[in-house]
Amino acid sequence: MSSEMGHRLDPIDWEEYRQQLHGLLDHCVDTMRNCRNLPWRPPPEDLFEKSRLRGDGYVEESLCVRLEDDDECSSPLKSVQEMILQNIMPYSTGNTHPQFMGWVHGAGIPSALVADIVASVMNCNCGGRNQGAADIEKACIEWLCWKAGYYDIHESIDPFGVLTGGTSQATILALMAARTRVCGYSVRQEGIQGMKPVRVYVSEAAHSCIYRAMECLGHGSNSVKKISVCTKTGRMKSNMLEVRLRQDVEAGIVPMAIIGTAGTVTIGAYDDLIGLSSLARKYNTWFHVDAAFGFWTRLSAENDIRRLTDGIHLSDSIALDAHKWPGVQYDCGALIVQDKKHLRATLASRPAYLTSAPDGLAGGDTWFTDYSLDLSRNFRALKLWTVIKAAGSRAIGSTVTDNCRLAAYMGELVASSSCIELAAPVQSNICCFSLISQYESVLNVTQIASALQMRQLGVFSTVSLGERQCLRAAIVNHRTTMKDVEDMIFAVESCLEEFIKAQ
Ligand SMILES: *Cc1c(COP(=O)(O)O)cnc(C)c1O
Repeated sequence: MSSEMGHRLDPIDWEEYRQQLHGLLDHCVDTMRNCRNLPWRPPPEDLFEKSRLRGDGYVEESLCVRLEDDDECSSPLKSVQEMILQNIMPYSTGNTHPQFMGWVHGAGIPSALVADIVASVMNCNCGGRNQGAADIEKACIEWLCWKAGYYDIHESIDPFGVLTGGTSQATILALMAARTRVCGYSVRQEGIQGMKPVRVYVSEAAHSCIYRAMECLGHGSNSVKKISVCTKTGRMKSNMLEVRLRQDVEAGIVPMAIIGTAGTVTIGAYDDLIGLSSLARKYNTWFHVDAAFGFWTRLSAENDIRRLTDGIHLSDSIALDAHKWPGVQYDCGALIVQDKKHLRATLASRPAYLTSAPDGLAGGDTWFTDYSLDLSRNFRALKLWTVIKAAGSRAIGSTVTDNCRLAAYMGELVASSSCIELAAPVQSNICCFSLISQYESVLNVTQIASALQMRQLGVFSTVSLGERQCLRAAIVNHRTTMKDVEDMIFAVESCLEEFIKAQ
């Protein structure tokens, strides 16, 4: 046995480790502060070669200690840290930059760094047991339920939820709860054979995670029925939904859930949640809301923005992402539900080696594993709690408001441009626009988006709306300013002119 036993993976010199971490932290704080200097750039082509863990991949071969009988080498942590800072850290997605508007990516919040460091040091396994982390997660869940308006319904309500890796995972949990409510708990033991066919109903603009959840649950993606949307508002047509519900019920198909989208990924449209909730009640089905980013409109002080999610408290469940609009570092999503007991009855299953004790570490009245598919899980609650505690809902709500106003401003700039035009009205924080038709026939938006990204002139993503290909900006970054919006539209126009000339 080696004399290193018991500490061979710890630093040999803790003081040296401390110094090194101080240096790292300075570099990290500078990087966050100077995020404007760090747009997305393509990762170097040899990064994989340089980072390979088997073979001779390591750059600083001189520092490498070759392991006996092994095709690997170990390096002092100091040189590994240097490699991270030089060769890995500069190649992020670029979503910390104020001119990143692709997809819906949160920017990251400095206060959460504090939490991430502490969570890493604590290294809790948050599946269960009697530990402080559970109280912090409970506090986050209670706050989310409160902001959703769940406590406004009636006094006896007992809402709850669980933090997840994101809305995709939360959607799976929500639909599992929908299924046990509508079809009974026996599916837990018996599976889906013998069950009647089920359907869930979504807007045609709903996110792909719903289709994947139904695949995962064993019903297949064909069990998701797309309902067409009103061209003006982008909302699911409730009359079409009701026609479909009636037909399905007559055909012996069980409506398992109606899923409203609060903030579509295409144009940022919001379904009529009040209308959908009454249909759900009428047809005895579960009402789930995919509010991945739209949930946060609840925090805006402006009526026109908050109104977008009116009625969300009438839902049975909500999936949402703190890693989107509030910018909490990845990953941090959540599922919240109105009925805690039911969620537990859907998901809890503990074998003998995981039973609770009245006291001691195996105690604790809330084990989050009983509400989720994870057993081992990290302490993501701490970063969410820290951001909420340090910023307060008002500051997060003001970012939501500002971002929506910026999207509207971008819409105005587009409307007054001679080479691009709005593809859909700006309803919240998303602005979609296309090239005017004579440009559209010779250029495509993907070319434009890539050229701007490669030149570090801002990140748009692309989307097709009907026949039209669009550039799409989703603004969720608290650092974005009017000048950023102006610069990005100017960059689009200049790029278009250049490409047209080169034709
Ligand atoms: C981002 C998003 C999702 C998926 O969420 P993840 O956190 O990426 O799993 C689902 N629905 C909508 C509306 C989204 O914007």
